[in-house]
Amino acid sequence: MPRGAPTRKILSLKDRAGRVIMTKTPTTWSDDLPGRSWASLWSGYVVCGCGGIRKITEPCPVCAAEPYDLTPQAVLVGDEAMIVNPIFAGAEGRYEDYVYLQMLQREWERPTADFEHFAHFSETDRPSAKAALVLLFWGYFETRIERLHRAVMKTLPPRIVESQLRRYSGIGSRLFELYQILFDTTYFDDLSAHGFGIVSDLLRDTHRRRNAFAHGSPQAINDEAVTSLVSPNT
Ligand SMILES: [Zn+2]
Repeated sequence: MPRGAPTRKILSLKDRAGRVIMTKTPTTWSDDLPGRSWASLWSGYVVCGCGGIRKITEPCPVCAAEPYDLTPQAVLVGDEAMIVNPIFAGAEGRYEDYVYLQMLQREWERPTADFEHFAHFSETDRPSAKAALVLLFWGYFETRIERLHRAVMKTLPPRIVESQLRRYSGIGSRLFELYQILFDTTYFDDLSAHGFGIVSDLLRDTHRRRNAFAHGSPQAINDEAVTSLVSPNT
């Protein structure tokens, strides 16, 4: 758990051997999503004309543009006036986003009894039954970071953009070195400076655990790491 993260109440269902077979947090951020579907995470967000990601109903946090006018408009179709709701080009969220998010939700809700292979290991020696969720999340996170870097470099010639992304191909070098070149700070320091210190700590911790998982310590992604990632504020 990142330092400073609040403690959370977790309801656990255990089997006769005392192993946790299901965890459930009382409320999560996903309760407010349409249909409680994680795939709805980007619902209501669009890419602003300035390139920032913004909510339709709120001012742009980057360029301060006003919320969009959602008043239905009368449009002439032939001789007939029709009332149409506004449609927005540039909705945030791509096909792969929806697939990633659906897969993440499925991993979170899947019964942990599916993962019995390492059940005989001690708690400290085996990864969480839901460790795949963290690996999946990190893969998704990396695609978002590449999209961010491409958006920032969109005015540069394509060959320079591709060259930079090849030169800084690892996620670590993108979060630190390339981010430093483009924003004069690191990704994590930037998050903290904008008031998202808990998110910054959580992502740093997740990055470290994912690397440890891949290099000899799969147990670094334990149940606490999984729950912290899904419910950091509960
Ligand atoms: Zn904007």
